[in-house]
Amino acid sequence: MPIPGSGLAKGLAVTLRTMTKRSHTAQYPEVQPELPPRTRGVIGLFEENCTVCMLCARECPDWCIYIDSHKETVPAATPGGRERSRNVLDRFAIDFSLCMYCGICIEVCPFDALFWSPEFEYAETDILDLTHERDKLRQWMWTVPAPPALDPAAEEPKELAAARKAADKAEAAAAAAAAAAEQAAGGPASGGTAPGTGTPGEADA
Ligand code: SF4
Ligand code: SF4
Repeated sequence: MPIPGSGLAKGLAVTLRTMTKRSHTAQYPEVQPELPPRTRGVIGLFEENCTVCMLCARECPDWCIYIDSHKETVPAATPGGRERSRNVLDRFAIDFSLCMYCGICIEVCPFDALFWSPEFEYAETDILDLTHERDKLRQWMWTVPAPPALDPAAEEPKELAAARKAADKAEAAAAAAAAAAEQAAGGPASGGTAPGTGTPGEADA
């Protein structure tokens, strides 16, 4: 059975403890807050990377991404080749009055066209102004922080590993072709030593 008045004593103890601690009042807006690098403030669009695949708009739980596009025909690169069609972005907008900052659009974008920026000062008096069109979304891109340095112990990304493998293969093929060409031209076989090019005093001794 609790002792009568113990609740009050506990409450007073908490009050006393809190009174002796330093205050953490943030003097915003005079002092800007130090936000963590992965803060979800606003979304920036790097439209050069956007292929209008519509994944972000389809996956957004709030349906607050608006994309318009049209198709353009790209002529064949070679005579007799096939024409191609590509999507051209006409409109890309995000309604931040509906957005719940879940980050799904950024996660699902397969082409790295959307990024979080820690900027948060974009309150408006008119709710319609919270729909940011592509120009404004591009402006936010310049406030996106640089990605953190790679962990030196991290596994090499598979794209880099594939690129390195392809480069090694191309280098080996070029070396083999050069050796074959040299041999065909009557030069020394690979691993051989041309007359007079050996170590002085070795072959000519
Ligand atoms: S953060 Fe979430 S709610 Fe906001 S636009 Fe992206 S998917 Fe939609
Ligand atoms: S998912 Fe990425 S590439 Fe596709 S429409 Fe959205 S921003 Fe553009």
